[in-house]
Amino acid sequence: MDRAQEMTSQTDSRYRHNSTDRDMLDKGAILQRDGTYAIAPHIPGGVIMDFNLLRKIADVAEKYKCAAVKATSSQRLAIVGLKKEDVDSAWRELGIAPGAAIGLCVRSVKFCPGTTFCKRGQQDAVGLGMSIDKKYHGMTLPSKFKISVSGCPNKCMDAAVIDFGVMGTSKGFTVYVGGNGGVTPRFGQKLVEEATSDQVMGILDRCIDYYKSQARTNERLGKFIDRVGFDAFRENVLQQAAVH
Ligand code: SF4
Repeated sequence: MDRAQEMTSQTDSRYRHNSTDRDMLDKGAILQRDGTYAIAPHIPGGVIMDFNLLRKIADVAEKYKCAAVKATSSQRLAIVGLKKEDVDSAWRELGIAPGAAIGLCVRSVKFCPGTTFCKRGQQDAVGLGMSIDKKYHGMTLPSKFKISVSGCPNKCMDAAVIDFGVMGTSKGFTVYVGGNGGVTPRFGQKLVEEATSDQVMGILDRCIDYYKSQARTNERLGKFIDRVGFDAFRENVLQQAAVH
């Protein structure tokens, strides 16, 4: 038996997929390596205060004999190992919209416990994160776009390595733009300090408007800033947002 046959034999034949299988974007279902799918309901910031939601996720995972429930880097709970034919029923039973895990859009808005729960919190990361999520999660943009809010300089939500990263201090919020992880990591650049949460919303509005209207397809915010120049980007965003 060669290596390819050996690997194939380790896959349950019920789930074996063919080369035409793909992510099902319209159903928020991501193809797994064994041909099953993962779905991840939208849970802003991973904050769950209605514990029935956890029961529902567990019930669906159990009913459809899924392999696992996996906490993702976007603060979601992904149900992993759904058969293709069960995806629609699983969503129906969950009754929650999918998280924007794929595609060119605002993918995730991560936020830490901030002053709501964390003893080190200096700003309300949950309140600001929830407002940003409500307004922007899933919005179509030229490339994927990730946002995070940390409640203090510890930056537990990686404020300096994400497209739009917000960090709380004792004097307000600091905003970093253009960071990313991935194959070619890039540090974000500090755009503003000591901003209020309303000012952060205004800066994000302008940043997204500018990026949406000027960036090329698949041009991540950091690449866009490199092309137009940080000073020009900063001037445009802060002038329009009336923050200096
Ligand atoms: S960033 Fe600060 S406030 Fe947020 S979880 Fe980390 S230590 Fe707590």
